[in-house]
Parts: sequence; structure tokens; C-alpha cells
Amino acid sequence: MECGICNSVNIEQIFKKKGKDNLFYTIIKCKDCKVVQTYPRPNSTEKLYDELYFQKRTDRGYNQYFSENTKKVLLNTWKLNLKDLKFFNYESEIFKRNNNPKLLEIGCAGGFFLQYMRSRGWDVEGVEISKVMSELARENLKLKVFNINFMDFNSSSTYDCIVLWATIEHFLNPVEVFRKIYNLLSENGILIFSTCRWGWLAKIKKQNWRFMNVPEHLFFFNEKTITPILENLCLKRISYVTYGSGMTSKKNMSFFYKFFKTIADSFVKKLNRGDMMAMMFQKTKSSNNFFIYFLNAYFLSFFYF
Ligand SMILES: [Zn+2]
Repeated sequence: MECGICNSVNIEQIFKKKGKDNLFYTIIKCKDCKVVQTYPRPNSTEKLYDELYFQKRTDRGYNQYFSENTKKVLLNTWKLNLKDLKFFNYESEIFKRNNNPKLLEIGCAGGFFLQYMRSRGWDVEGVEISKVMSELARENLKLKVFNINFMDFNSSSTYDCIVLWATIEHFLNPVEVFRKIYNLLSENGILIFSTCRWGWLAKIKKQNWRFMNVPEHLFFFNEKTITPILENLCLKRISYVTYGSGMTSKKNMSFFYKFFKTIADSFVKKLNRGDMMAMMFQKTKSSNNFFIYFLNAYFLSFFYF
């Protein structure tokens, strides 16, 4: 067993979980970088994301992905994430320098977020591993979406903003994904992502945690474990927010469920204890590379040893 982040073999097994493919997976934690992971990792992830994936998933609002209501819920979450991250201040700075900045979304599904950002004046492109989803985005919304695994994606341009909504946990090698993102960002470019957050809710609920979907979810980060990975790549953390109390939105929620969900959601957000998180990073000049590297090495040794 080897860590998929730092290659350490210093691994702790936490629990087992049966996947949707009826195989058993072990949830492991690297004792060096502390990232929680699914093991074994599949050889390739492409075949997990066919049409059924988006039709059948119910845990993250992908049930009836194409409905107007789903679109509204997704858009509200993204807009709230952007507001909480103070992205709109950065956006207006970007528009002062460039009136048609470029944005890339990795894992753009049917393209609802790209459509929204295009309406704000961005020149948008997307990458989507699901053939059906990428076709829908191209045909219905006339978006420039490539049906390809991001690791095989080539582009001659750089981007002022790169976004991944609940996508990084699906990749086989998140460090390589972030390295590639760094290379695709323009100077001072912004990286925004959300991912499920390994915290107290996950630790209590274990196999039954709403995001413990194996083998689709391969890495479970939190702000402490993911920040050093990105700062080693010269991506500086600007802001982050956690949200979600673990109470999933349901159709026909009862008054009491809705009431407690509202209270629980605002409580975990204030305490920074949600089971989802959104983060914003900015590309810094690589001339700081060595300085940041040593600074991180210093803090890591301080934290972990
Ligand atoms: Zn590790």
C-alpha cells in the first residue's frame, strides 16, 4: 500500500466499505501527509462516468440532473461558494485588466456553471469525461466542451480562472492534476474548487458518510491536508469556507427536517466544521519556489513530527 499523494508506505487502515461494483475497498490514511484515500485505486476512471452515473446519483443532487430545479440548486450553491470565497472582488480586478478573460472548468458536466460564467463576460471552456454530458453541453448550450480526461487535455492558451466543483476527489492523481492546473493558469490566475471535507462528520459516520462513495471518490481532504500540497506547487491560499451539516437536501422535505437542516447548516459553517469545503488559490511566481518549499517543509515538520 502506497500513499497516492506523497508515496509514503506509512499507512493506517481505517475501515472497509463495499463499493457500488460489489468489491470491497479499504479507506486508508497516510501517516505522513494525513490524506485519507480509497484503496485500491482503479486502473482507470473513465468507465465509471457513463450516462447512468448522472441519472442515478441521488446523494449530490445529480438525480434528474437535467431538471430546472436541479439547475437552480446547483447554481445557488456555486454562487454562494463564490461569494463566500470573495471571488467577485478578484473577478472585478481581472475585468479591469482584461475584458474577456478565460475560464476553464474541469468536470463541467452539462455546462450549467460555464453558461453562468459566460453570462458574466467570461470566455469559457470545459473538460468533461462523460460523453453524454459533454454532448449536452455542446448541443444544448453551445459551449466549447472537450470530452477527454483532463490529464490528456492539451491547450495552447492559459486561463485566468480554473474551476473544479466536487471533482478533484475523483482523480487518480490529484497532485498531477494540480501541477497541470498550475501550468495552465496565467500569471496571478485563480484556482477555485470544492470537495468533500474529511472532518468530524466523516469520522463519526464512516461507511455511512454521504460522500463515502467508493470507488468514485478516491481522496478525502481537508483544509489542513490540501493546503501544503498546493502551496508546494506555488499556489497561494486566498480563502476557504466549509459548509454542509451532512443533512442532504431531499425532495418534499418536512418542515422540521428543513428547519433543523437550516440551523445545522449555518452552525457548521460558522464553526468551520462542514463536510464540504470550497477553496480559492492564486498562482504565484515560481521564483518564490524555493522559499515556499522551505517554508512548507518547515511548517510540515512542525505539525507532523
Ligand atoms: Zn501521504
